[in-house]
Formats: sequence, C-alpha cells, structure tokens
Amino acid sequence: MRNVVIIGSGPAGLACAIYAGRAGLEPVIIAGDRPGGQLVNTDIIENYPGFSAISGADLMMKMMSQAEELGAEIVHETVKRVVESKDGFFELTLSSTDVITAKTVAIATGAKHRHLGVSGETEFSNKGVSWCATCDGPMFRGKRVAVVVG
Ligand SMILES: Cc1cc2nc3c(=O)[nH]c(=O)nc-3n(C[C@H](O)[C@H](O)[C@H](O)COP(=O)(O)OP(=O)(O)OC[C@H]3O[C@@H](n4cnc5c(N)ncnc54)[C@H](O)[C@@H]3O)c2cc1C
Repeated sequence: MRNVVIIGSGPAGLACAIYAGRAGLEPVIIAGDRPGGQLVNTDIIENYPGFSAISGADLMMKMMSQAEELGAEIVHETVKRVVESKDGFFELTLSSTDVITAKTVAIATGAKHRHLGVSGETEFSNKGVSWCATCDGPMFRGKRVAVVVG
C-alpha cells in the first residue's frame, strides 16, 4: 500500500512528488513513456524562475534528482488502468501487469498540442512553426506572424 502514486513525470508530476516527498509521504512516480515530460525535448527554457536559461533536459534531470532526494521512487512504466476499490483505495495496473495499491492518486499526464495537418507543418516544426506562444513568442518578436485560433 503506497500513500501517493503520481501518474506522469513532467513538471507537474515532479512538483507534486517534491511536495509529497517533503511531507514524508514517500511518493511513487509512474514516469510513462516520456520521462521528464514535454520539456525534455525543448532546447532552451527562459521562463522558469531561478534560471535565466537552461536546457529542458537539464531542468527535468534536476527536478527528477530533487524528487528522488526527497524520497520519491520513480518507476519506468505506464499506467494502463486505475480502479477505485470498495474500501476507497486505488488499484493501478501497470504496463508490466504489476498492480500497485494507493491511498491517493495524482494524475499529471499533461496535454498534447493539436496539429492542423497542413502541408509544411511537420517540416517547419521548431523552425518557425510553433504551438506555444508563452514558450516561443519572444523568438518571433518584430517578425510577421500568422496565428491560427485564439
Ligand atoms: C517544443 C516545446 C517547447 C516548450 N517550451 C516551453 C518553455 O520554454 N517554457 C514553458 O514553460 N513551457 C514550455 N513548453 C510547455 C511545457 O512543456 C508544458 O507546459 C509542460 O511540460 C506541462 O507539464 P506537465 O507535467 O503537465 O505534462 P507533460 O510535460 O506533458 O508530462 C506528462 C507526463 O505524463 C506521462 N504520462 C502520460 N500518460 C501516462 C500514463 N498512462 N502512465 C504514466 N505516465 C503517463 C508522460 O510520460 C509524461 O511524463 C514547451 C512544450 C513544447 C512541446
């Protein structure tokens, strides 16, 4: 029986693990097929307080180490199923078919951007085509941009 199982190892899941670890709850993180989440594939991050610029991979390695130092266990599997039992606990079935029982489950599985499916979109991804104004907006300062949707 685990106190807290966190599904997802992006910034949200790792922040959750850091707080749960500091509270002495010995959280388990199920990392999924993208350990570290979306930022792992991001070149330079400029909007995280405390770092004027850091690579996404470095930032996520630091978050993972911090979570582990505070008592989190990282399991490199994917959650296939979550069921609430009659006694109010949760049973999580992993890709290996192992089952973990937990008092609390935190879901931090992130989000995906939606592609338009237009020609050139994949080819120019990260070379002018972006899906995140917060992340990439400053790179386009002073340039002409086309915005699709709001
Ligand atoms: C190219 C790019 C550049 C970006 N640049 C910036 C930037 O400069 N600054 C910024 O603030 N943001 C940036 N972002 C956005 C940022 O990456 C996201 O806002 C952030 O990663 C969301 O964190 P999250 O923890 O919610 O989810 P995610 O990072 O998406 O993590 C989701 C996690 O859930 C796991 N998961 C999913 N399903 C399961 C399952 N069934 N079982 C177990 N685990 C599962 C995945 O393996 C992953 O670890 C960028 C995004 C992209 C794609």
